[in-house]
Amino acid sequence: MRIAFIGLGNMGAPMARNLIKAGHQLNLFDLNKTVLAELAELGGQVSASPRDAAASSELVITMLPAAAHVRAVYLNEDDGVLAGIRPGTPTLDCSTIDPQTARDVSKAAAAKGVDMGDAPVSGGTGGAAAGTLTFMVGASTELFATLKPVLEQMGRNIVHCGEVGTGQIAKICNNLLLGISMIGVSEAMALGNALGIDTKVLAGIINSSTGRCWSSDTYNPWPGIIETAPASRGYTGGFGAELMLKDLGLATEAARQAHQPVILGAVAQQLYQAMSLRGEGGKDFSAIVEGYRKKD
Ligand code: NAD
Repeated sequence: MRIAFIGLGNMGAPMARNLIKAGHQLNLFDLNKTVLAELAELGGQVSASPRDAAASSELVITMLPAAAHVRAVYLNEDDGVLAGIRPGTPTLDCSTIDPQTARDVSKAAAAKGVDMGDAPVSGGTGGAAAGTLTFMVGASTELFATLKPVLEQMGRNIVHCGEVGTGQIAKICNNLLLGISMIGVSEAMALGNALGIDTKVLAGIINSSTGRCWSSDTYNPWPGIIETAPASRGYTGGFGAELMLKDLGLATEAARQAHQPVILGAVAQQLYQAMSLRGEGGKDFSAIVEGYRKKD
């Protein structure tokens, strides 16, 4: 299948590589010429604009940083995707953005005869490279059926969440909870340490008791508890605090629009904001625990 792939960063490039490996012909576009050259060597075709990439494609996929980039790439009247796409071409945005933008851009696509869905992912850059991502898909039933076989070449878990926008809703609600639970585990571990219990004993109790959660039993923020967690390698190479801050911003903004309280989410957002201000936004988000510890 000829697929337009636009946005070839930390996530998009390995996803595109997996599609090339699976035998698809890719029309590539990104502002970064270096990554375009790398993917061209693997057989991808470099396009001059999102419009050109979409014009000759049977499917369009985008993986961009944030809502403003998604609007620009799709809606620009001169060289946006919707300026060149043929009616009937299935289209999917995999960026993590707010549900309203996903719906707005999809509506603009529908006006051109294009069925467009949203499918934010989880699994990080490791999952993108290994082809084991989870896709949370907001799309019509027909579009989901068309997309599923292609998404299975980049991911392991392809979930139909409902109509367009629901993929983003699933993603931001999950990450809202994750951001909060990591802070909860950090508080409990740091309090236990300050009061004098061995942190490994404490983690063992929590992980077999009612406080157990992923932030505790798989990704514990206290160094030395889980060998494979970023906490045990200086908070490097995981899910950056800056990305968590972005997702909490999306959740709190969506909550504001829905007149829905997210009290703990707002506090969590402020804690990650303070971490970012201290210049620590590049660390894994579990380094939030450092705010509860005396410096060694
Ligand atoms: P990134 O910044 O590494 O890559 C984004 C790419 O988009 C860059 O190559 C950039 O040049 C390109 N781009 C920006 N504006 C463009 C434009 N107008 N036209 C064409 N290309 C443009 O970001 P990423 O880490 O790949 O993340 C992409 C999305 O996936 C984000 O929404 C992020 O929140 C989400 N996400 C990231 C991770 C992760 O671990 N990195 C995990 C899950 C979800």
